[in-house]
Amino acid sequence: SGAALTAQLRPSTRTSSPLSSICQRNINSDVRITRTGKPILTVAGGRSSLGGYTATVFGATGFLGRYIVNRLARSGCTVVIPFRDDMAKRHLKVTGDLGRVVFLEMDLRNTASIEESVRHSDIVYNLIGRDYPTKNFSLSDVHVEGTERIVEAVAKYDIDRYVHVSSHSATLDSPSEFYRTKAQGEKIARDIYPETTIVRPAPMFGFEDRLMNKLAYPSNIITSNWMQERFWPVHAIDVGMALEKMLHDDTTAAQTYELYGPTEYSMAEINELVDKEIMKQKRNINIPKRLMLPILNILNKVLWWPVGSPQEVEREFLDQVFDPHAKSFKDLGIEPVELKALTYEYLKGYRSEAYYDLPPMTEKEKREEKKYLHVID
Ligand code: NDP
Repeated sequence: SGAALTAQLRPSTRTSSPLSSICQRNINSDVRITRTGKPILTVAGGRSSLGGYTATVFGATGFLGRYIVNRLARSGCTVVIPFRDDMAKRHLKVTGDLGRVVFLEMDLRNTASIEESVRHSDIVYNLIGRDYPTKNFSLSDVHVEGTERIVEAVAKYDIDRYVHVSSHSATLDSPSEFYRTKAQGEKIARDIYPETTIVRPAPMFGFEDRLMNKLAYPSNIITSNWMQERFWPVHAIDVGMALEKMLHDDTTAAQTYELYGPTEYSMAEINELVDKEIMKQKRNINIPKRLMLPILNILNKVLWWPVGSPQEVEREFLDQVFDPHAKSFKDLGIEPVELKALTYEYLKGYRSEAYYDLPPMTEKEKREEKKYLHVID
């Protein structure tokens, strides 16, 4: 009846009624058309949203991976995650609703597994990368041959979008093999799939980073260049946000983005900020490059865990370089955050418990000189 309907539409009851939730869903639903003309229905609805898109994220088990998977899965996209190690992928399962996050076992040399991972997707992100060569994969195997296999699969199944995460300073003539192979990977991707979106992040900081965590780790800092390399650190969450925007904006296809933070630092300046935040003075031991390279070569033959590689020493002597033609955060409408603003958030765990912040004592407590921290019963 009319009265019942009026009652249903009263502000106090509107949010809970089934009728209004249907209306709400209709208001928020949207049909997008992909670059190749496929209609995608999206419906906003919190954790049970329908994102419409299917996205494959290679390298999702790394540091950056979670910041894009989490965005895609919570907006209701189906996220396919090719993985190598069972334990490395577990935290990604809960980023989306049941069935949204799909895991597929993959090997970078197994073309069939790569094709299986991409064939149902509308967009493929490739975040695969390694800072050092491993016993089974050289840098070229990962950054060039691996990229080639993935992009060939993307082209074969005519996937709408391919977003390739490379690195800052990636140039074909770089003295560092890491940057060189990253540049070769970019070139191969563009040759096979010209609409490739290339993303070159600056050194990233965040909760699981290898920048501030390395500097805060309770051991001496061993370097070869007195921490003089200069770069523009970027927040991993900002890079994740940029990667998500690329899905919804097809004008980003065939473009190159260099994503860097608002301020330039030297590694020594970041180290100073870290020391201040963790309230400890770390010792910097500098071993000259000509000694460091042979030492690392020997250590890497004897030890089986990562102890640093000659590649990383080489990179210490290179400042971040920019491509004047590349786009940046500004073109995506994102304001990158400042490293300085987040050091406390990310480093407070490294502080000694002697500096644990207690609530200030009241005047009464001061008079009675209460010293205990916990009161039970
Ligand atoms: P991580 O090292 O944390 O993660 C790398 C990912 O690549 C992991 O998922 C890893 O899988 C996968 N991977 C590496 N080698 C292979 C291989 N041989 N076969 C299959 N998978 C492989 O990297 P980040 O998340 O920090 O960075 C993401 C991308 O951004 C990388 O390409 C990196 O080079 C680039 N980048 C990162 C910067 C940074 O500061 N972190 C700066 C500039 C660029 P698994 O978990 O199985 O090992």
